[in-house]
Amino acid sequence: MNVYLVIDMEGIGGVTHGSMIRTGHVEWRERGTRLMTAEANAAIEGAFQGGATSVIVKDGHDSGQNIRREDLDSRAELITGNSVTVGLMPGMDSTFDKLFLMGFHAKMGTRFGQFDHTISTATISNLSINDIVVGEIGLYGIYAGFYDVSVALTTGDGPAVEESQELFGDHQGVAVKQGLGRFAVRTFNPDKILTDITQGAKKAMNVGAPPMKVESPVSISIDFLRSAEADMAEMVPGSVRTSARNVQYTHSDPDIAFQGLQAMVSLAGVAASRWASGLYKSGDAVV
Ligand SMILES: [Zn+2]
Repeated sequence: MNVYLVIDMEGIGGVTHGSMIRTGHVEWRERGTRLMTAEANAAIEGAFQGGATSVIVKDGHDSGQNIRREDLDSRAELITGNSVTVGLMPGMDSTFDKLFLMGFHAKMGTRFGQFDHTISTATISNLSINDIVVGEIGLYGIYAGFYDVSVALTTGDGPAVEESQELFGDHQGVAVKQGLGRFAVRTFNPDKILTDITQGAKKAMNVGAPPMKVESPVSISIDFLRSAEADMAEMVPGSVRTSARNVQYTHSDPDIAFQGLQAMVSLAGVAASRWASGLYKSGDAVV
């Protein structure tokens, strides 16, 4: 059995504040990456105990440079790099049997979700696929469903695990902490977290819900925070601007629909950086 494991960083146990997930920060380098790699190893161990024959780990946070390769269980392969350039799930196909979603946070607008957001706090307020409101958990799980791969294990903070259970049905879930607000969290016993993850991953190899199937055509709808981001996203050929802040992209091929999503999000990010750098404050047109 082949396992595809996507791991984010906000929902790793012991990750308690923003500097621990900020690429390059000393807190990220010395603490965040270590905690994240340990959770990945706990799941890899469980997967092999449960009968996995291969595990591929996709480093899914920020620029994808978080997992410490030299400390990662050598039975697993690793995919690193930014999702914008390598795609959401490189190599995903129907040869995989199980998807593990680890270290996840809840979607934008979730009460008690630590670091709740959908792709980018700076640009997106709401995202849906065929009218199903999703966060990143939903994006990965639905994409895997196109290849008949089911979500078998979800780890993250409590609201993230609940979000995944609601969307994908009953499967192994391990809550490693509980958000008290967006920037406050109660984090659980670090040793128990790792044991629970190993046990959950082992069980996940033999039980779980069926793959989630979303019908074609695949329609992705994004409400951006500002009209400036929608102005940029609308430049993707084939997209439809439905209101000041909403842009939609629909395609019968799920891969192309997801490429449209990534293109819209990347362009919207350009608008957000212009806000951040103060370029729009001058009132000048920026080309
Ligand atoms: Zn992340």
